[in-house]
Amino acid sequence: MAIFIVLLGPPGVGKGTQAKILAASTKLVHISSGELFRENIKNQTELGKLAKSYMDKGELVPDDLTIAMIRDRIAHEDCKNGVILDGFPRNPIQADEIEETLAEFGGQVDAVPYITAAESILIERICGRWTCRAQGHIYHQEFNMPKRAGICDYDGSELYQRDDDTAETVAKRIHVYLDQTIPLVEYYRKKGKLIEVNGAQAVEQVTKDLLYELKKLIICEYAEPIKTASVEK
Ligand code: ADP
Repeated sequence: MAIFIVLLGPPGVGKGTQAKILAASTKLVHISSGELFRENIKNQTELGKLAKSYMDKGELVPDDLTIAMIRDRIAHEDCKNGVILDGFPRNPIQADEIEETLAEFGGQVDAVPYITAAESILIERICGRWTCRAQGHIYHQEFNMPKRAGICDYDGSELYQRDDDTAETVAKRIHVYLDQTIPLVEYYRKKGKLIEVNGAQAVEQVTKDLLYELKKLIICEYAEPIKTASVEK
């Protein structure tokens, strides 16, 4: 049985960081809609060109394009044990769509960690964020510095600041989040899938809390570390 986790939370709260940690210690694949778009931009595809025009303004890329991209990625063989979705779904239409897509693969959304932090923290994190070109590893110029300035610890690639990580675009992204994504909190709470996690803590503590809560909801033979991870808080 495959496991499907949806990470919910505002921009900059640490979804990508946590998803990468979780994916590294389980058989789950991290799928970030934002990273998939950025890959398309880097490869100068038609989708990339179109997506960039929305992303630079802090708006959502149209649903049909986003949904097609995610469906395509989930259909890959490497996702057969399950995935951690980061950045998708981001509105109710996408939430309905993901249920349908996962049902086709014999699965469903199993757990929805909802990571939160105050807006001032989000802005501070996003404006100091540096991202790795090759695989999207995430750093912060004060809180999580790479060992060598400007170079990713994991793959040696260059670190850069995302075009949409500016103060103006961040304000818009938070607005879009409050307007379009927040309704998903109640949607998943009603389904009994929501796990609330305080994102205003050190990365390691957020991971601990996340695993502790996930373990209560999911027992899965494929996600061994979730089953056996230390659960002391
Ligand atoms: P963050 O969560 O920090 O805002 P992401 O990398 O997840 O950053 O997303 C960056 C941008 O990519 C968004 O502002 C939006 O334009 C686009 N995007 C990402 N995911 C989606 C989605 N599910 N639907 C529509 N647009 C998306």
